[in-house]
Amino acid sequence: MPAPPITMINCFLIDIEGTIVKDKSYAPVEGAVEWLQRVKTFGKKFSLVSNNTTHSPEELLSLLRNKGFDLGEENLDTCMKVTGEWLKKKRLKSCFVLGNEALKSYLGKERIKIREDSSVQAVVVGLDEELNFQKLKIATRALVENDAYLVALHSNKVYKDSKGEIAPSVGAVVKALEYTSGKRGLIMGKPSKDFYRNVLRRLETKPENCLMISDDPLSDLVGAKKLKIKTAFVLSGKYDESILKYLDKKNKPDYVYKSIAEIKI
Ligand SMILES: [Mg+2]
Repeated sequence: MPAPPITMINCFLIDIEGTIVKDKSYAPVEGAVEWLQRVKTFGKKFSLVSNNTTHSPEELLSLLRNKGFDLGEENLDTCMKVTGEWLKKKRLKSCFVLGNEALKSYLGKERIKIREDSSVQAVVVGLDEELNFQKLKIATRALVENDAYLVALHSNKVYKDSKGEIAPSVGAVVKALEYTSGKRGLIMGKPSKDFYRNVLRRLETKPENCLMISDDPLSDLVGAKKLKIKTAFVLSGKYDESILKYLDKKNKPDYVYKSIAEIKI
């Protein structure tokens, strides 16, 4: 598909993994560091909108800065941050976490008690590469016996791990727990409308002047389209163009590029 020039865009919402970095190795996509620098030079607004659940926002920023990306705190919105804010707003004091130590420690710093049993008010689901039956059992008991909230950091189907291999993502585990409990997972990150709306509000921009760029047309871009944000699918990540056959016309991305470096600013 040809890549037409984009006019009227004054703001970019940008996915991280598969879009500006290759995968969980965080090696930059070729040309991505320079592309982001040009966005800054031209005075356009941008935010990295990330469903990363394995690094705190501070860690993620420093990791990306070490790879050469010139970023300020105001350039990052993550599902981990939104989850902490949501738990505090709901005044929930305890949770069971399916996720790694970074997620637990981040929520701990937000004064949410992390417990290793089912007597909790929320089950928080991030990426847990050491997921096992015992953890799923505790989560299920919390949801069924303790009526805990099912809090999903996001609902992605798959991701590319640090070896560059496709693996089941957070959404797959959330679906399993929805099945065991009969509850709906509350999605904190992309593609939730609230997540996108908050970012747009913070950046003081209208959806039609915004371009969301991602390697995930099924989740990230369909969600953005629902809010009338323009969408660009990049082929530098987990999917190739054949994935588009699963989307009907109204959900297909507006543009397709080989990589972010091709996008005109
Ligand atoms: Mg991605």
